[in-house]
Amino acid sequence: MNAAEKPWAWPWSEAAWQRTLGSLDTLHHGLLITGQPGIAKREFGLALAHALLCETPGANGAIGACGACHNCTLFAAATHPDFHVLTTEREWRDGRLKLVAAYCDRYQDIAARDKRANPSRVIPIDQVRHLIEQFHAHAHTAKRKVALLMPADRMNINAANALLKLLEEPPADSVLILVSATPGYLPATIRSRCFQIAIPPPHADTARAWLRGRLAEGGGGGGAGDGAAGGDGDGGAGDDSAADSVDSAASKTASKTAAKAAKVDFAAIDRALANAGPVDVLQMQRDGFLQRHAQLSGDFGRLVAGQAGALELAAQWAKHDFARVLDWMHHLSAALIKTACGLGADLGGGDPGIDLRSRPLSPAKLFKLYDQIGHYRKISREPLNEQLAMEELLLALREALSRRK
Ligand SMILES: [Zn+2]
Repeated sequence: MNAAEKPWAWPWSEAAWQRTLGSLDTLHHGLLITGQPGIAKREFGLALAHALLCETPGANGAIGACGACHNCTLFAAATHPDFHVLTTEREWRDGRLKLVAAYCDRYQDIAARDKRANPSRVIPIDQVRHLIEQFHAHAHTAKRKVALLMPADRMNINAANALLKLLEEPPADSVLILVSATPGYLPATIRSRCFQIAIPPPHADTARAWLRGRLAEGGGGGGAGDGAAGGDGDGGAGDDSAADSVDSAASKTASKTAAKAAKVDFAAIDRALANAGPVDVLQMQRDGFLQRHAQLSGDFGRLVAGQAGALELAAQWAKHDFARVLDWMHHLSAALIKTACGLGADLGGGDPGIDLRSRPLSPAKLFKLYDQIGHYRKISREPLNEQLAMEELLLALREALSRRK
């Protein structure tokens, strides 16, 4: 973890961070961090929670938590008793922020979670009830109790109602930090009781420049085990030494990293940036999803040529991250509509090995497919049989590209 991977070092969130840190002791008891997906709102929330728990934030030139006090040590070790994380099982399984995954264990039924093939996508009322108990007790070692709820819009209605009471009658010395990319899904009564910290979307050029900079540093290599933006440690003393060891390891394997960086497909990066935030695209590069675009494109070509069945591909595609495959299909269907209208379009990376211009593409069916994909993107927050959904979409895709009318 290095200094480039902090909210205050990201060009789009630096101003919001400075403003928030400047009023740390007078912050509202309910904060709502919003902004588009993929710009590291969770890392921002985590760094803010850390700063709120630190004894001397800003000390020794730190731009957030000091990283050296007792509370910072506990925080970085995932043992701080005054820090609470409420999130979904899905988020825990994603495991992108290691500290979040460690802290949320206190609030989830680990045995039930481990047995479930499909992790839950909601924050249930039990978690909020548990938090209310904790918030009504005195802080253990910090001057306040801090809770991070993310994604806050995944609270079910009962959980949201219980949380509302906590916002209406906040216990002394407590701060709730809600994070949401879709705050419209939160009840208006909750939104109106929170102070909103809106992180603006990065300008396209800023996002591209930041991402290229990170990749040039070797940030696209992946497999190093850090988070997407690396971001959950947030400057603890332990983190600094960890960062040092990572840096020295990185310098020892500089040629290896350079080789990995050389393989970065910048056209694929730019294409992905049209549909996702820069931090998400960096993560896709690191975990290899961007490189799979060519494979998806090849599969698509085989589907159209009748060399692969829709159900067979659905079973394979359902193994990938569902939301990301939906994003890719959304891009593909938009490109197919453009092609059907006689406009050249990029089909999403990789050569599908077919000439679509000779196909009797049906714009009506393609628009229907585009809407179906949009529908699943919208409801992907609900419990869903992903393979069935993928089968429906691939059958619709094959139908829209069929030689038959
Ligand atoms: Zn500290």
